[in-house]
Amino acid sequence: MGYAKSGFRLLSLFAFLSLSLFLEQMNSAILGCSMVSPEDHELTVIAVGDILLSRHVGKTIDLSQDPNLPFENTRPWLSEADIAFGNLESPIVSGDIPIRRGVVFKCLTRYVPGLVYAGFDVLSTANNHAFDQGDRGVDFTVNYLQSHSILAVGTRKKEDQASFGRVIERKGVKVGFLAYSYAAYNDGGAKENSQVATWHDPEKVKEEIGQLRDNSDVVFVSLHAGQEYRRKPERRKIEFARAAIEAGADAVIGHHPHWIQPVEIYRGRPIFYSLGNFVFDQGHSQETSQGLMVEFRIKRKQIRSSRLLPVAIERYCCPRLADSQLKESILEKTGLDSDEIFFSDERHEAGK
Ligand SMILES: [Zn+2]
Repeated sequence: MGYAKSGFRLLSLFAFLSLSLFLEQMNSAILGCSMVSPEDHELTVIAVGDILLSRHVGKTIDLSQDPNLPFENTRPWLSEADIAFGNLESPIVSGDIPIRRGVVFKCLTRYVPGLVYAGFDVLSTANNHAFDQGDRGVDFTVNYLQSHSILAVGTRKKEDQASFGRVIERKGVKVGFLAYSYAAYNDGGAKENSQVATWHDPEKVKEEIGQLRDNSDVVFVSLHAGQEYRRKPERRKIEFARAAIEAGADAVIGHHPHWIQPVEIYRGRPIFYSLGNFVFDQGHSQETSQGLMVEFRIKRKQIRSSRLLPVAIERYCCPRLADSQLKESILEKTGLDSDEIFFSDERHEAGK
């Protein structure tokens, strides 16, 4: 009787444990697939600075007959990210038209497969070279990128009067982008054109960021501005970037100076004043042949951390990840102690 009773108890315990284990396995199996809320997924956005697919870079691509060449060493990082972003400094043009007088850039259509191969999803086209291929070049660039599944941000087609804000959704997270330039033409900002988003009207910028904030979970504001070949951002740029954060941006991504500039954490959010060059033919100095890739990690619809990946540009065209010694010296220019920045909830709350 005693043995039978304890045997029964053991059997009951075994059955209970088996059932518990079964339920737990079921639970984790369910959690492992469809029951996970999209908010629990981690999303990565990677950003780079200026991309010139013209001039010497164009010649190098033509010589090698390989549009992927400039991106061969960085593709693993760019294509791995859920969203890859950069500033395309040269409008796209279909014919091999002669370069006109002055600094005029063009990205021939045959170079575009390189951008696709690299893994770019969003490209800022708001820069001082937006009109280098005339009015038609702006529309053509927006359309051509779109036909290659790349979203152009910061310029819009002539008939398009809608806001410049663009939203791209990945893993259930709406990521908003706005891109501004200090100039629509390469004239220092003298002449405006409604096809290019510029920083000239702070109230309008504030409104646009606010609107985008309402329609997205995370907001990136790109800024093509600042004195060229300078380490320190000037006052106007600092004011614009801080105002963008106040208006609702989660991060500001700067470029145009061709040099890396410092990183500021303002109200718990990062401002990268300049990521420097990425694909550019300015190998004449150390400063202009270095740049930063920044990886943003997003969880539960907030940027939780960002990691800096310094690059060195080789052969006047092709960035590669900097080795450890070079990485240290590049990171020093950002003013950060580490290549990783973490953002806490409190900081995010404080920044709201
Ligand atoms: Zn520029």
